[in-house]
Amino acid sequence: MPGRLLSLVRPGPSSLSHNKSDTRDAFKPPTALLPPYSVKPPSHNKDTRTKSQESVVIMDALKRHSIGGRHHSDKKSPKVEAQKGATLNMVVESPPLVFYNAPQGSTGAIFSGQLKLDVTEPYVKIEQFEMRLSAVVTTKKPVAPHCPECATQTTEINKWEFLKEPTSLKHGVHPFPFSHLLPGHLPATTHGNLATLDYVLKAVAITASGEKITFQRNLDIKRAIFPGNEKHSIRIFPPTNLTAAVTLPPIIHPIGDFPIEMRLSGIVHNKNDSQTRWRLRKLNWRIEETQKFVSPACSKHSQKVGGEGKGVLHEDTHVVGSEEVKTGWKTDFEQGNIDAEFRAACNIAAKPLCDMDSPNGMQVKHNLIVEMVVAEEWAPLKKLHQATPTGAARVLRTQFHLILTERAGMGISWDEEQPPLYGDVPASPPTYVDDFDLAHLDDETSPLNL
Ligand SMILES: [Zn+2]
Repeated sequence: MPGRLLSLVRPGPSSLSHNKSDTRDAFKPPTALLPPYSVKPPSHNKDTRTKSQESVVIMDALKRHSIGGRHHSDKKSPKVEAQKGATLNMVVESPPLVFYNAPQGSTGAIFSGQLKLDVTEPYVKIEQFEMRLSAVVTTKKPVAPHCPECATQTTEINKWEFLKEPTSLKHGVHPFPFSHLLPGHLPATTHGNLATLDYVLKAVAITASGEKITFQRNLDIKRAIFPGNEKHSIRIFPPTNLTAAVTLPPIIHPIGDFPIEMRLSGIVHNKNDSQTRWRLRKLNWRIEETQKFVSPACSKHSQKVGGEGKGVLHEDTHVVGSEEVKTGWKTDFEQGNIDAEFRAACNIAAKPLCDMDSPNGMQVKHNLIVEMVVAEEWAPLKKLHQATPTGAARVLRTQFHLILTERAGMGISWDEEQPPLYGDVPASPPTYVDDFDLAHLDDETSPLNL
């Protein structure tokens, strides 16, 4: 596939630092909150349901800010090990890790628990005992195929050191408590088609004889954006007089349906002694998920993308839910409106992902696309019920951004003793329009040959 050279808008000077050897005392976020660049999306053919794009982008910003630093994971320790005198286990005490609200305004989530070092010998001398939490980004589209350095980037989020000096531990279970406030700007755990983001905890105790006692588990970090007010949007469809006013929920979830209300106005046009009017013949919706990832190149393979600090932008758009609405709209030719109310939902089998936007170039977004086919009729004013189709028809197509997020209530925000109660929610402000778009003739309104 031909590559496209894209420029990235670099962010302002950054005071962020990462790769610190010890971040226990002052946690420095490995990534900025702000998207450090904007990549112009390739123009889409709206009728193509599955699209894939790749482009070369300049990645200075990405490298400096990316959730991918350049330190790579240790060589894997063998899975089955000989008797070591001790074993490691973990008890997690904190609730499920849910970041509430958008990265910019999220207070994060507390992760806490105990590592349990079970000494099976009379005693064991432990030289070193530490645990690291890392963000591991792995792409399925590495710049150099089969190069693990291109495919995986690891960034340390936190490191705990449990022993200040070598220590002898007696037979029995020794608990080592830990806690950390995971900062709310971190992107949630995401397993996409182009890349995956996992949070990996690795604990290692090294005995005086050099044996490594290890424990590893992944942390599943979720994000739940609280619902705001419903969204009101207006779309117009020149050259017709048709206008669609659409009401959508502020957020949607991977599981469960949601309501869409739509009023199509301007359907009637009266002349001296006759009337032309549009009748809704067909109504479809679909939810498209767009995943993006900028594959970085390792230092060995940077020449493949034209030098250091560049990467390849991959994009994948696919449908995660669709339906034809067969009934449920009311036509009022006197008022000149068509009112439709229907429910839409993601198809769970399509494994929809929650929205995410990581400074390393990983992104997931959703759009709702509504398509209507309207057919024109003509009737004399004196005999309005005797309408005749004129043969003219149009496809009206419009799209709306949707925010797909986890349901709140799976965990408890660390800074709130209790989640807000329904009685606390203030009355909604007056209805307003926050979105007004001119649908382009070529794009959104097209004649239909019946
Ligand atoms: Zn490489």
